Amino acid sequence: MGTDSTIEVTTVSRENIGEDKLRADETHEGEVAAVSHVRTPQKVNLRALDHDELVAFMAELGEPSFRAKQVEDWILKKNVRSFDDMTNLSKALRAKLSERASLGGVTLATKQESEDGTRKYLLKFADGVSVECVGMPSKDRLSVCVSTQAGCAMGCLFCATGKSGFKRNLTPAEIYDQVAFVAEDFGHRATSVVLMGQGEPFANYDNTLEAMRLLNSPDGLGIGARHITVSTSGLVPQIRSFSHEPEQFCLAVSLHSARQELRNELMPGVRKHSLKRLHDAMADYVNRTKRRPTYEYAMIAGVNDTEEDLTALIDFTKGTLCHVNLIRLNELPGSRFKTSSEEKIERFKKVLTAYGVETTVRESRGNDIDAACGQLRQRRG
Ligand code: SF4
Repeated sequence: MGTDSTIEVTTVSRENIGEDKLRADETHEGEVAAVSHVRTPQKVNLRALDHDELVAFMAELGEPSFRAKQVEDWILKKNVRSFDDMTNLSKALRAKLSERASLGGVTLATKQESEDGTRKYLLKFADGVSVECVGMPSKDRLSVCVSTQAGCAMGCLFCATGKSGFKRNLTPAEIYDQVAFVAEDFGHRATSVVLMGQGEPFANYDNTLEAMRLLNSPDGLGIGARHITVSTSGLVPQIRSFSHEPEQFCLAVSLHSARQELRNELMPGVRKHSLKRLHDAMADYVNRTKRRPTYEYAMIAGVNDTEEDLTALIDFTKGTLCHVNLIRLNELPGSRFKTSSEEKIERFKKVLTAYGVETTVRESRGNDIDAACGQLRQRRG
């Protein structure tokens, strides 16, 4: 476990929340967990409010609804950190806002930059919890990989985050803010986002979807839905829900093995979501959306790169609309898992392609930094 400060979570009834509904995560039906340490006394975190809540808050201050839109623009589009920067608001209103509200946001804990331009960040939220995100520039594009949870409960054996356990879900604003922070650091708008950092996005489904909508919205960062990809380890009910979402967001599934026994071992968190159920849900997803999902497959020497594994992967994917992304494993210090040889990776690619399965080998970015998810946080922890 890292050294992040402990989170104190109190469960309160929905009626009692009032202004304390600052950053709230749904827990059980009818209950909301208010993260009490985020509560700057009586101050409302404006980043954690959606549009309607912001309009209501401004109304409480006696302000018309267009003021909410102005404040929203400053927060979402210009990512300002101080009410003083909101220059189209009167001084009196800025003072009132400083008294009653905060701007939340993230602060930088650590940044590493790779020779290839990839930047990896450890960002800290108001309660001291930190997460990782990565910015990957190429020509005139900037791709950002963000976290959806602090830590992760899925326990994948090859993952640094999985080893550190779960801390808490991130709010939509906290997911959004990572992208805004990275874009600002590069001085370039984010052109694509992958929700593939720390955490299982579909275990934080509602917040993740809200963040994706915010990233997509012209009132937010205006990133095209087809350039926003969410990656799940394979939570079947949520995949089914996702296939009903109206936006054209993209879906990636971390497969890593198409053999049930091995997948159970490598990814214990998705044991109850069998490959058969996953296959059915993905068929349904493709049927409904007509979109091509990606299967991520981290190649691990002697573990999931045998001929038996290849046959299982072909059986799982052939004849379906999909894309297989073979990944050179980012080796963790001290881990028994090593990346497969180039020959093995090439063989997988060649044979899958021969079976009509669209396959690529993902270019590794940031090899010279702690680029695997969870590594940077672990090193600091
Ligand atoms: S690989 Fe993803 S789902 Fe698995 S433990 Fe790591 S963060 Fe969680």
